[in-house]
Amino acid sequence: MKRLFCLILAVAALGLCACSADAPAQRELFAMDTLMSLQVWGDETVLGELTGELTRLDALLSVTDASSDIARLNDGATIDGEAAALVARAAEYSAETGGAFDPTVYPLVRLWGFTEETQRVPDSDEIASALAHVGTENILLADNSVTLQNGAAVDLGGIAKGYAADCCAAILSASEATAALLSLGGNVQTYGTKPDGSDWQIGIADPAAPDSAIGVISVGGTAALVTSGGYQRNFTQNGKTYHHILDPETGAPAESGLSSVTVIADCGAMADAYSTALFVMGLDEAIAFWRETQTFEAVFITDAGEIFATSGVSLSGCEFTVVTP
Ligand code: AMP
Ligand code: MG
Repeated sequence: MKRLFCLILAVAALGLCACSADAPAQRELFAMDTLMSLQVWGDETVLGELTGELTRLDALLSVTDASSDIARLNDGATIDGEAAALVARAAEYSAETGGAFDPTVYPLVRLWGFTEETQRVPDSDEIASALAHVGTENILLADNSVTLQNGAAVDLGGIAKGYAADCCAAILSASEATAALLSLGGNVQTYGTKPDGSDWQIGIADPAAPDSAIGVISVGGTAALVTSGGYQRNFTQNGKTYHHILDPETGAPAESGLSSVTVIADCGAMADAYSTALFVMGLDEAIAFWRETQTFEAVFITDAGEIFATSGVSLSGCEFTVVTP
């Protein structure tokens, strides 16, 4: 349900372009455990291709669909091809982020019940047992294939939608479409330039009231904007709220002082992996990572409601502190 809010926000952002002369062709679908909305200018037929691609990737990468490559991998099979390549990339992002992003968190995700929607707080022994299977050293890469060891299990939930956005952008660039705005849960992909030539306006959810925007990011052309937020999926037990972004070190929901991170980059898969990782790192470490890499821009919202934006972000509608290189 909470994921719907991201969509509503993205749609609200779309509302800002409703004044353009040409109305987009649009479609909604449910894939990758979220409601997605697609808007395309200049080539209505590409909507069918995009829908097919998102459905295909869902079937390939879903951790809960027993016939997916990822479920087969978790079941002990060796996999190759596209899913194996994405697991290998996920392992690279894990190394780059010092393990803050870790696709082998699945035993923990399952323990906390985030996949099965049977959420509960596990005890420390259960967390320790699950943690014993977590770590990218358990991903064995050989040629183009992947196998797991030590009872490890992979969950690409932190990167799959960003990767799907990249695949959709590739389809769009091979089509007659001149512009598109794709909202895939917390992931927004812009493509091309709207008929009226104006920049894309993308709302960032207010973590304290996710159905309203706290600020608006302007981007020109093609970009991936990915938000990871504790408000997107969570449950409350004994008055405390537990969200779905887990700290692979503690085995518990990350308590880093951040309530959301939005990453803006050319590459959706990277933006998605980084948004999850930066959320786990917390503000100071995330800013240090940005200064080191300079491959993306980001907006951080702290638990106290303060907003920080790296110097390349065009943000309006809110007060914020600019983070300089
Ligand atoms: P996102 O919404 O992109 O931040 O991804 C969160 C999803 O990724 C969760 O629902 C889990 O399936 C998975 N996940 C949780 N914690 C991590 C982590 N530290 N690294 C990688 N994936 C994670
Ligand atoms: Mg992510």
